Amino acid sequence: MAITDKIYVKNHRQLASQLETNFPKSAFSGATLDLLFRGENLAKLDDATQERVLDFATDFMDCDCQSNPHCGHPQEKFIRYLLELREQGLGPDAIVDVMGQDYMLYAYPGDVLGFLDDAVRTLEAVEELAEVDGRQEAADEAREKKRRLT
Ligand SMILES: [Zn+2]
Repeated sequence: MAITDKIYVKNHRQLASQLETNFPKSAFSGATLDLLFRGENLAKLDDATQERVLDFATDFMDCDCQSNPHCGHPQEKFIRYLLELREQGLGPDAIVDVMGQDYMLYAYPGDVLGFLDDAVRTLEAVEELAEVDGRQEAADEAREKKRRLT
């Protein structure tokens, strides 16, 4: 399961009651993206929530794809956001805190840790393959990316 399948909406029950409908807890499930992060539903939310939801839509759902928000870009952008927080030196607990403040989302720190470990392992594999192939530039790039994540 991708990390974006393990990102949840904070105060889920409260939001469902404000919207007078139910939706999945998972922030990136198609139904949540459709219901919570677009259009007229926003008006039903309290101000603080509206602001966070709007920020999320602006930051992760701003592509022009016809199939937006089901094009995969919101997930890709969120993964980039997580990696950037890591590059700023944040650990899993702090990353979970920040996503809560920024977008009213939460995840389990253990899942974030697993995601970061996987990202580092992927870069290690890329680095090794590139070295075997004699593609030094690609190897250096992977090593540098890995360094920023650890
Ligand atoms: Zn897109």
